[in-house]
Amino acid sequence: MKLQDSITTLKGIGPKKAEAFARLGIETLEDLVYTFPRLYEDRRNVVPIAELREGENAVFTGTVDVIKPGGYSRRGGRVLKMLISDDTGSVEVVFFNAYYLSKTIHMGDRLTFFGKPQDNRGRLQVAHPEFSRESDVQTGILSIYPLTKGISQREMRKLQQTIRPLYAEAESILSSETEKRNNLCDIGYAIENVHFPADGTKLREAKYRLVFDEFMVLQTGLQTAKADGGSFAEGARFDNPGAEQEYIDSLPYSLTGAQERCVREIAADLESGRRMNRLVQGDVGSGKTAVAEIAMFKAAKCGYQSVMMAPTEILAHQHFEGFKAGLAKHGISVGFLSGSMKAAEKRDVLSSLADGSIHVLVGTHAVIQPEVEFSRLGLVITDEQHRFGVNQRILLKEKGENPNILVMTATPIPRTLAVVIYGDMDVSVIDEMPPGRLPVYTRCADDGRDRMKVYDFAERQIWQGKQVYVVTPLIDESEAMDARSAQEVYEELSKRFDRVALIHGAMKQNEKDEIMAQFSEGLIDILVATVVIEVGINVPNATVMIIENAERFGLAQLHQLRGRVGRGSSQSYCFLVQGSDSELAKKRGEIMEKSNDGFYIAEEDMKIRGPGEIFGTRQHGLPDMKLADMVRHIDVLNTARDEAKAVLADDPGLVRPENIKLKNRVKKLFGDDFSLNL
Ligand code: ADP
Ligand code: MG
Repeated sequence: MKLQDSITTLKGIGPKKAEAFARLGIETLEDLVYTFPRLYEDRRNVVPIAELREGENAVFTGTVDVIKPGGYSRRGGRVLKMLISDDTGSVEVVFFNAYYLSKTIHMGDRLTFFGKPQDNRGRLQVAHPEFSRESDVQTGILSIYPLTKGISQREMRKLQQTIRPLYAEAESILSSETEKRNNLCDIGYAIENVHFPADGTKLREAKYRLVFDEFMVLQTGLQTAKADGGSFAEGARFDNPGAEQEYIDSLPYSLTGAQERCVREIAADLESGRRMNRLVQGDVGSGKTAVAEIAMFKAAKCGYQSVMMAPTEILAHQHFEGFKAGLAKHGISVGFLSGSMKAAEKRDVLSSLADGSIHVLVGTHAVIQPEVEFSRLGLVITDEQHRFGVNQRILLKEKGENPNILVMTATPIPRTLAVVIYGDMDVSVIDEMPPGRLPVYTRCADDGRDRMKVYDFAERQIWQGKQVYVVTPLIDESEAMDARSAQEVYEELSKRFDRVALIHGAMKQNEKDEIMAQFSEGLIDILVATVVIEVGINVPNATVMIIENAERFGLAQLHQLRGRVGRGSSQSYCFLVQGSDSELAKKRGEIMEKSNDGFYIAEEDMKIRGPGEIFGTRQHGLPDMKLADMVRHIDVLNTARDEAKAVLADDPGLVRPENIKLKNRVKKLFGDDFSLNL
């Protein structure tokens, strides 16, 4: 048995099984060694069913009282429901798309489950628990592995037992110096104890080592990806101190103190000749766009092009219109680029970019396509950056020679995390709202009589010439969720109101643009929308935001949505129509009623959901980590960052023998399309 052997050399793994394993990315025994448990089942402490708590992982044992099909799930799979009881009570267990289990599980079976009970209309339900027959139940700390159809937990544990002798052969990717400096346990010991933890302390040591390894690879990758720039690189220099003032003076309002400070910081960066790498954080409505415009104006006055990338077409288009209105009168030409444009239009834009006749480009991620070439790109701006991957940002940066970088976000990101996601950026905070803004009056409403009153209220606002957004979580009706759909709400409102329109993500771009333009011009009173309007949309005359099934949105998302109103000087209102009266829904509603402060709301959101759920890897496009969690393991992350820095300072290309393994691992993690200086 060797690490490089194919898993098909193991007894019981034929071509069919091998296929299932391939889905998990497992082909060799080594892959299996590095398939770590997601969780551990503490079988030393089984919970009576009556003591199961919503949201808390638990092990429980019981008898299958009822087992029956429960209709079809939304994706068409058959649902299997079971009622599991012990002496203290019973709980419902459901499996979606796993009807095949009904062949192996029967009434009267005694099973042990591990899962997280959730509230389902007032009753506890455990969906997709890990489970096993009681006869197999092992004591102690049991590993729970990621699985796929065709591989059982039991099988995975048995295989790990089989290859256990190989653990000791795993080679460290870190030099012994790094291991020593950071007090890391031996890699073989770590792997042994992460699969078969002898006790809690050994498990912690083991995880620390493995998490450290992962962060080390991540950090080495990020630091080498940035190595062409970093904070000390030379950047496009805008040698025109004070040129931005002309533009500032032409704005219809005067900047807030926070905006002024932010502009000063940006201008200083741009004039310095050192590449700017700056993050602007500001709550929704704080006026980030104006700051970006000022920077682009300054770039143009110095003969440089700018590009701004926005996360949705609607938003990109809105910026385009806004920039044209602001910049064109200063002789600055603005172009727009999106994936859905006609080929001929696109060609025109591309050639004007290449010959420099477009000074400012706004677009979706179409702007990072390879065919987009600039003549002299000096400033790269991304709006609502958390929606873009790190990789996309790097691609954009590569379109110019050391362009200055400005990232704008309304998401308050903890400083430590910002460093990981964005690199060593300077941060400007816009912590002040434009004058005259009234906090949005926010109230929760129930689905019944309150809802009527909410729409009566909206009608009175319309009589006063104001406009209304209604946001729903889904496009069309679905049997699986009883959320109110956009289509349904639209039809209902059309009976009562005249000028109602519907907008959602599945519509064609020109249709969406048309409707947004009409709404902007006040030709539509009520805009029924899905979350397509979540980010950035700016129609100051809209004063009412009604969110249907508010319980289905995250707090940060609710705050973003609410930020679509309260953009002018009139009092604005936000109504959260709650489709659930659970404690959690109530609590979230209270937070929204109480505060208009995005930073406070994000903090509360983190308390409720846990930081990992909010800043999960998937949301910022970094490579996937196996064990490491950037929020929970932030201390390890920081240590690994320093270590990566030290190793790279010593051996920038990682060419020394003791660093080769690290280098290979970095390349493997980041893949080919991530350009690394390695
Ligand atoms: P966000 O930070 O959410 O991107 P925007 O840049 O869209 O905010 O600005 C929100 C609104 O506030 C816009 O209508 C903009 O014109 C207006 N605005 C921006 N700065 C000021 C200011 N200093 N005084 C008054 N209104 C402002
Ligand atoms: Mg914005």
